Amino acid sequence: MELVRFDLQKMENPEISGVEYQQGTLLGYEVREYLLEKWGRECAYCGTGDTPLEIEHVVAKSRDGSSRVSNLAIACHDCNQAKDSQWLVDFFAADKGLKKRLKANGLSATVRLERVQRQLKLPLRDVTAVNATRWTLFGTMKATGLPVAVGSGGRTKYNRQRLGIPKTHALDAACVGKFDTLKGWRVPTLVIKAMGRGSYQRTHLDKYGFPRGYLMRQKQVQGFQTGDRVRAIVPAGKKTGSHTGRVAIRKTGSFNIQTEQGAVQGISWRHCTLLQRGDGYGYHPLPSIQH
Ligand SMILES: [Zn+2]
Repeated sequence: MELVRFDLQKMENPEISGVEYQQGTLLGYEVREYLLEKWGRECAYCGTGDTPLEIEHVVAKSRDGSSRVSNLAIACHDCNQAKDSQWLVDFFAADKGLKKRLKANGLSATVRLERVQRQLKLPLRDVTAVNATRWTLFGTMKATGLPVAVGSGGRTKYNRQRLGIPKTHALDAACVGKFDTLKGWRVPTLVIKAMGRGSYQRTHLDKYGFPRGYLMRQKQVQGFQTGDRVRAIVPAGKKTGSHTGRVAIRKTGSFNIQTEQGAVQGISWRHCTLLQRGDGYGYHPLPSIQH
């Protein structure tokens, strides 16, 4: 389970927090996640968010600034380049590019400078509001008695990029926690969606409460039920071919099938084979990603 976004202990550990971190290491990923959170996923200086963000020493290394996370901020490329080794106050007072970007983002230089200074003084722990929901979920999982291992979001990203795995929801989940290699991830993902079991109300009403069309009372037609997953092989006509998907039944025996390519209407029940009974969920496979 991804319990925390970044590992505070790893950064607080005096043995490593003073050490130069490297991009691409686990600590590097933890630091980056932490900084993104601390600075609200936007440039600490000009407030631009929709741009690649770089890690920046607030007090420059050439001025004896440390590489502890307390001296690091996240900045856009332009600010990072422009600030260079200037003192924070000088950069805010004189840089024309920064002023332009602040103005474009509707920010005041004075207010923004104060915010940066205030954020810099925040203790490590205060940056992260503890996510109560995640801890409750963790407690619930622990209570099952099954083994539960936790990891940080920094580690998930580290694993994913270390192993060259593309970013999808399913593969991100597979990259949570501590492990060396991941095998067999080039498989399709089955997406499951709650569909409900149809309306209880058998009659549609118009806005005045008069009946307007009726739904079938009959739940099954020729052994099929709305929501079943079927494959229809149509031998001839306009709908020739194979159609696989969720079926909607009609009393006439002429069905509609919701396939991945779209709805196919008017398919006779005679061409249909039941693949799976409807259970209130819709299933559709996403193709695997090949690299
Ligand atoms: Zn910036």
